[in-house]
Amino acid sequence: MTTKPIWDAHVHLFPEEIYRNWDKYAARDTWFGMLTKKPEDGKGTEEAWANIDEALAAADKAGVWGLAMQGWYWNDEGMMIMHNDYMADAFHRHPDRLVGFASINPKFGSKALAEIERCASLGFAGIGELGPGGNGYDFNDPDFLAAMECAQHYKLPVCIHCGEPVGHPYPGRDMTSLSPLPGVAKRFPQLTLILAHMGGGLPFYAMNPRLQKSLGNVYYDTAANPLLYSIRSIKAVIAMVGVERLLFGSDFPLLLYPSRSREMDFSLFLTDIQDHAGLSAEESDRFFSDNFRTLFHLQ
Ligand SMILES: [Zn+2]
Repeated sequence: MTTKPIWDAHVHLFPEEIYRNWDKYAARDTWFGMLTKKPEDGKGTEEAWANIDEALAAADKAGVWGLAMQGWYWNDEGMMIMHNDYMADAFHRHPDRLVGFASINPKFGSKALAEIERCASLGFAGIGELGPGGNGYDFNDPDFLAAMECAQHYKLPVCIHCGEPVGHPYPGRDMTSLSPLPGVAKRFPQLTLILAHMGGGLPFYAMNPRLQKSLGNVYYDTAANPLLYSIRSIKAVIAMVGVERLLFGSDFPLLLYPSRSREMDFSLFLTDIQDHAGLSAEESDRFFSDNFRTLFHLQ
């Protein structure tokens, strides 16, 4: 593995108020309801819930030091603000182990920009996870571009959910075209983009020498990787974009090996990587620790 502090770049921790009163909030935000619906037959969504203490305890157990809390693509403004307040309180209480990415829906227009400004002043480390499919925009949308400009202004990296254009269907699968993203990266050269879920396959196209230059500010994470790809994909993406571009991210508390375990934890994925990804010691140091800490100026 690595002897350096492991940072998970992609976890989702929701206010208990929301998941304890799931019916009420799922009705208020139906996309959220669809994505996190409890399966009646024990199959279906792999969503699970963890509060801050539970997440940190699970991290301790697996030897993970820090967690980057990703927000959510809310369609309800009140839930967006409630979630951001919850995360801000958490990273203020655990400044050494938690960083927060603000929930932002660019379609809220000027209210989204005001929320970015508010979250910058609260000490958020970034913005995301943005979910274009869930909020009904694409990567050419003027509201999305205005949010990117605002994020660049506040020097906040943006994590974007990238759905894979090829593969099996599942609820909430985001088919938003990824093709404008290199243009977005080029248009905002000071903006750091973290393309979640291995950028939906974008690393392959990043090998196009014409695109390479515009993707200098783009990173990728491995959120939900075991649900989507073979563990060999990690080494493959490193070969395509360079080890300094890939961040370890899990999508905790999502159940990544649902047929093996219904318990949320970090260790199954970590062990799978350690045993089967074939990373060198130097690659492990960078992927699990150095890349994230460098990007966010952490110890
Ligand atoms: Zn995602």
